[in-house]
Amino acid sequence: MPKQVDYLIIGQGLAGSLLSWELIQQGSSILLIDNQQTSASQIAAGLINPITGMRLVKSRDIATLLPCATQTYQELSLFFKQDFYIEKPMLRILRNEKEAHKFHQRIQNQDYRHYLQTELRPATESIQAPLGMMQQKQTGYLLTQKLLSCLKNFLQEKQSYRATQFEYQDLQINNGVHWQDISAKKIIFCEGYQAIHNPWFNYLPFQLAKGEILTLTAKQILPSTMLNYGHWFIPLNKYQFRTGATFDSINLNTTPTIAGKNSLIATLTQILPSLDSATLSSHQANIRPTTLDKAPFIGLHPEHPNLAIFNGFGAKGSLQIPYYSKHFVQNLLNKRPITAEVDCRRHALKT
Ligand SMILES: Cc1cc2nc3c(=O)[nH]c(=O)nc-3n(C[C@H](O)[C@H](O)[C@H](O)COP(=O)(O)OP(=O)(O)OC[C@H]3O[C@@H](n4cnc5c(N)ncnc54)[C@H](O)[C@@H]3O)c2cc1C
Repeated sequence: MPKQVDYLIIGQGLAGSLLSWELIQQGSSILLIDNQQTSASQIAAGLINPITGMRLVKSRDIATLLPCATQTYQELSLFFKQDFYIEKPMLRILRNEKEAHKFHQRIQNQDYRHYLQTELRPATESIQAPLGMMQQKQTGYLLTQKLLSCLKNFLQEKQSYRATQFEYQDLQINNGVHWQDISAKKIIFCEGYQAIHNPWFNYLPFQLAKGEILTLTAKQILPSTMLNYGHWFIPLNKYQFRTGATFDSINLNTTPTIAGKNSLIATLTQILPSLDSATLSSHQANIRPTTLDKAPFIGLHPEHPNLAIFNGFGAKGSLQIPYYSKHFVQNLLNKRPITAEVDCRRHALKT
């Protein structure tokens, strides 16, 4: 007998996992398929940082996305009895006069006061910051790997998880979708960067970006705040820290490189010179599912309403995925419209 579920979901990164969680919370049945390859979510730093870029700009829709993200991670913490989201202040080192000028402009703006302290912090003995450090609020990082592991166990216990490669040619589309012994109303693709191989959605303008990230152990006690200086520094405990991430839109592979490692260490030790004696515990690389217009791809295929996509969260998955999981589930279950800027139908199907 074929097994009937409401939704077949492809990919157990942060997108597929939180979408599955939300669908289950709303009473739907799902089966999630994952090929268990190392993904962007598995190595991501999980940083949430409301003010980014050289122009110190607030992330789009931050006032909506951030409360939803922190609340979702708190609910998951209560359910799994573990912490996933670590709130931690971040100091941003002002690197030139232009940034210092922008900072003074931003603190005049009431909207930025939620995310920035008005006072600059001076350099310290261990941190090089001649122009001072901007104190950012409402920053933190998600322990993504730990969360995904809990959600995988949760789905396995519900018999809602299968570890296998989903082959596109095995899908049949008629009165819903059919794959192996499974029938579903819809299939939702959450394959991260591997969506470029998806025959139905590869027309969407992804603009992928490889990232490399290091985990190191210091010989001395680390500063307790996160730092941002173009790259970032996250202290995980007194001695262990992560630093990243490179951004490469040309060499789209998952191989860590010596050049990537050297560039991360060079920028780190300019700011924290004493860390030149830190020892490397891991060096990872993966590909962010970034998009040309920097907005996610969410919704139904323009010609096959049983096929859907939930992808394109780029470098901001931890911030965006909780809100958009709820948003998409409201569309799937209650036909609420998808916001135009994230609806995958904003891009015309190429014929
Ligand atoms: C170095 C680096 C650092 C990052 N740092 C941050 C950060 O600090 N903050 C932040 O918010 N974001 C960060 N990101 C981005 C973040 O990782 C992404 O936004 C997010 O994880 C994307 O999740 P996803 O589920 O869409 O994709 P993925 O994590 O790529 O997951 C896709 C899943 O689908 C599976 N899959 C694909 N195709 C198939 C198939 N045919 N069959 C079965 N399974 C399949 C894959 O194996 C994978 O498990 C970083 C990314 C990188 C690379």
